Amino acid sequence: MTIDKGVLQGQGMTSLRTRQRLIERLTEKGIADVRILEAMRDSPRHLFLDEALSTRAYEELALPIGYQQTISQPYIVARMTECLISDERLSDKPLNNTLEIGTGCGYQTYLLSLFSKKVTTIERIEPLQEKAKKTLKGLKVNNVNFKVDDGNNLDQKKYDAILSAAAPLQIPQNLKERLNIGGKLILPVGDSRQQILTLVKRVSKDKYIEEKLEEVLFVPLLKGVVS
Ligand code: SAH
Repeated sequence: MTIDKGVLQGQGMTSLRTRQRLIERLTEKGIADVRILEAMRDSPRHLFLDEALSTRAYEELALPIGYQQTISQPYIVARMTECLISDERLSDKPLNNTLEIGTGCGYQTYLLSLFSKKVTTIERIEPLQEKAKKTLKGLKVNNVNFKVDDGNNLDQKKYDAILSAAAPLQIPQNLKERLNIGGKLILPVGDSRQQILTLVKRVSKDKYIEEKLEEVLFVPLLKGVVS
């Protein structure tokens, strides 16, 4: 009998036990929202990575995705998503319109698509977004609008939730202004030495509440587009 190594490897990577272990680790680190834990248990993170790295997909690690960028650590993806959906507990799609800056490999985009009616995701490195688009199409995701652009250049549209996966030195005023009242922005803020994951809530036309959550390390928010 010949054993198809690919199949075995695939089973190993996607086995419920491996994913369950990741969920246990996320719970230990403080992720409590069952909707997030279930979504992460059921999301095929290995499909967003190159084959050589896919055996490590369910470890608590940030991993390279090419073009000097990284897929965020599962805990950070869970934490950021949890913050965005925490106000709305009843609906299965807690967010209407969500904006993501920094598509990367599309894993965070996938999570956001599960909890949002519509996601717009912006990436400055075109080939990275092309790959993410293919992966998400393969997963039958049809509520994501992809844009190759510099996330510093936004139009006037407003969102319930905004997530930036790249760190500006300070919170950009134009990002805050893209929030609907009641909307939330989550992003790392700082330079390569120190960044703080920050949550901003727009409580009225002119009032925002900022909360500093924890120290993190993301790639910087850069300018311009790479094709
Ligand atoms: N959540 C992604 C993280 C990717 S890393 C993932 O899990 O794969 C952050 C991404 O932000 C990188 O792909 C980088 O190219 C992108 N980025 C950096 N500056 C940007 C900008 N100004 N506009 C859009 N994307 C940007």
